Amino acid sequence: MHFVEVILPLSLAKTFTYSVSEAEHNYIQKGMRVAVPFGKSKIYTALVIEIHENKPSLYEAREIHQILDEKPIVNEIQIAHWQWIASYYMCAIGDVYRGAMPSALLLESETIISQKQDGFVDESLLSDDEFLIYQALQQQSSLKVQDIVNILNKKNIFPVIQKLMDKNILVLQEEMLETYTPKLIRYVKLHAKYETNEGLGELLEVLKNANKQKEIVLSYFQLSASEKKPITVKKLIESAKSTSTIVKALIDKEIFEEYYIQTDRVHFSGKTKEEQLQLSSAQQSTLEEIKQSFVQKDVCLLHGVTSSGKTEIYIKLIEQYIKEEKQILYLLPEIALTTQLVGRLRDYFGNKVAVFHSKYSNNERVEVWKQVLEQSPKAQIVIGARSALFLPFSNLGLVVVDEEHEQTFKQVDPSPRYHARDASIVLANIHQAKVVLGSATPSIETYFNAQSGKYGLVEITKRYGNVKMPEIELVDLKDKYFRKKMSGHFSDTLIEEIANALSLGEQVILFQNRRGYSPIIECLTCGHVPQCPQCDVSLTFHKHKNQLRCHYCGYSMAKPTNCHACTSVHLTTKGFGTEQIQQELIELFPNAKIGRMDQDTTRGKFGFEKIIDSFKNREVEILVGTQMLAKGLDFDNVSLVGIMNADNMLYHPDFRAFERSYQMMTQVSGRSGRSEKQGKVIIQTYNPEHNTIQQVVHNNYIGMYKEQLYERQIYKYPPYFKLIKLTLKHRDFDKLKEGSMWLYQVMQQNFTIPVLGPEEPPISRIRNEYIRTIMVKIPTNQSLQGTKKTIQKILNSFDLVSQYRAIKVSVNVDFY
Ligand code: ADP
Ligand code: ZN
Ligand code: ZN
Repeated sequence: MHFVEVILPLSLAKTFTYSVSEAEHNYIQKGMRVAVPFGKSKIYTALVIEIHENKPSLYEAREIHQILDEKPIVNEIQIAHWQWIASYYMCAIGDVYRGAMPSALLLESETIISQKQDGFVDESLLSDDEFLIYQALQQQSSLKVQDIVNILNKKNIFPVIQKLMDKNILVLQEEMLETYTPKLIRYVKLHAKYETNEGLGELLEVLKNANKQKEIVLSYFQLSASEKKPITVKKLIESAKSTSTIVKALIDKEIFEEYYIQTDRVHFSGKTKEEQLQLSSAQQSTLEEIKQSFVQKDVCLLHGVTSSGKTEIYIKLIEQYIKEEKQILYLLPEIALTTQLVGRLRDYFGNKVAVFHSKYSNNERVEVWKQVLEQSPKAQIVIGARSALFLPFSNLGLVVVDEEHEQTFKQVDPSPRYHARDASIVLANIHQAKVVLGSATPSIETYFNAQSGKYGLVEITKRYGNVKMPEIELVDLKDKYFRKKMSGHFSDTLIEEIANALSLGEQVILFQNRRGYSPIIECLTCGHVPQCPQCDVSLTFHKHKNQLRCHYCGYSMAKPTNCHACTSVHLTTKGFGTEQIQQELIELFPNAKIGRMDQDTTRGKFGFEKIIDSFKNREVEILVGTQMLAKGLDFDNVSLVGIMNADNMLYHPDFRAFERSYQMMTQVSGRSGRSEKQGKVIIQTYNPEHNTIQQVVHNNYIGMYKEQLYERQIYKYPPYFKLIKLTLKHRDFDKLKEGSMWLYQVMQQNFTIPVLGPEEPPISRIRNEYIRTIMVKIPTNQSLQGTKKTIQKILNSFDLVSQYRAIKVSVNVDFY
């Protein structure tokens, strides 16, 4: 008898044993997927991690349905890494497997599939089985995989479905929900052959008898001379008072070339930058120091001020690993940042750059997965958000974690709740690869690790091209309000500086922290504020849709015309979100072009890119936005950054509030003055003397670090203590209260280390579930592994108490 040990894509910590036939045994390898029955009637895609002869003692092993791969698609390094994640972050290996793989590779009987909307299907190319499925989907818009099992009357159907997905005929239902279709902007440029002087003469000759076309070409020259930026077809037609037919004629004649704003899927033309990248001497010595540090240490922190040219240093470093034929993983905190970066990296590495993140379609993700698996040169460098670290690397040489301080590297939900920076360091270790962590404002934990010698530390304190750090001016809001110098949320100082920047043709960024400042509706008669019926929060007012919405569960309603509590019609809006800032700006600067970047305006696959591009192309003069603005964007024409209100970041009840405020303000400020001219930053605050604000003004990272480190030690927080946070949820308030008390008390009795709680969090009910949290603080001199074991034991016994079984408990190790 032959058996395989498999991981199921379910929240189960155990692996399961299935039996395989002699023939299957001869074929099967670790890392292949198999379709297996589970429970009464479910089918799942499981992963083989062991082949053995040990009959399970507790249950009768069932047979697998079918082997799904010809070659392993997951390697042993990955499996080892996933096991580490499961153990360190206290989650099921099944959760890691499920989170790691593109869902198209994890078909199961409950998966819902649909026909792709736009594709043309040549029915004659379909096999009989394929045709049956295709036909069934003409009758119904979607099918469960289980339905297909019934239609074809056989169990082994995953490969057929997979084929139809590869052929782009089927898609998973989850993708269908992403209905957004990107609108790309069309640009034109003159064909390269006409760029020279002789070319120009030739061009005029060609157009001698085509007046309309000539007009448009002349307009093109005028525009490109005056604007010095890419020219959209729309603009060209407007300024020449022409039509798109004429533009098309010129494209057909190969006088113009059309192109679309580069997205990260656009294929690179194949030409790498001719002039080699020249590092400044500061960059060059930094690069040498990093290499030097790699001799002794595997991880190096690159602490470089904003705009010091860290990306170029990474590029040079990557070059070395490319030569050694190693794979490179480049992690970014925000997928939206990939477009800019991919453009920059493709300039140097051509088609060696692949991108992987969750906004990609399944087919695209599967494609990158396979390229990495085969060590294809097309994916030698992979840029991605955190999930890219699950790809099947077999020969990783270097990991770059850019903006390592960003909290988005930590996955919150669902499990696995891993930190991509930390998990990638472990991954690199298995590969014996090197890691460079980059930031202008490193996290306290990372800087601590560098100070204590665990990581190498390399600093670069000058901006590239000797651009000066921006000048930061504080505006005291108390004083401004007292002296009536405020218009809405704008001080006279800020208004003046904006006007000044605009008059010089420079751009402005205004930053409004998202937290707690969403606008709400309040009744002036009775003070009632509409609440979400399912969550413990006020509904947020969205002006342009005239809607109230819950940011936690998505509940929405039309804005009421009268108060639901007292029927009064006197309602007012309170709070000050980005939308309100934008409104005020429109009144203050009626002629300025104003853009907004927040969660609302950046939905969809290219939402963020569109806003960034229009700002880069100077179609937008003032950009108002939330935290998204703080993340490593590079604009060369921004001379002013305004922080609307520094205080709402500072006074957030979180031990990282001051660290984050420092990071956010410094990062946003760093968007100002990235070319020759010194930029300016205005920070509006009620507390100009606050230590953190003073540290921002004086660019005093070390001061911030020391102060925060001191506090962390006193109040028992990282890096001196590891945090494990337990979150309990249940619909019944009393049961939850009892259950969390039980859990807390058992922990108290078992530990001498601090256990805090059970606490009602500020938002104590979401989607009708009440929430309580318990925090465990583990000093670094105590065994983390041992403590986790005890916690797990306690959780197991909690699970055995019948009245608490329905309470959901989630564990967050290294709570961020
Ligand atoms: P950081 O990531 O440190 O904030 P960037 O890498 O974005 O800084 O660099 C800031 C700007 O300086 C970018 O526009 C970049 O293209 C430019 N730059 C940096 N180093 C060089 C170099 N060696 N040659 C040319 N341009 C450079
Ligand atoms: Zn009322
Ligand atoms: Zn809600």
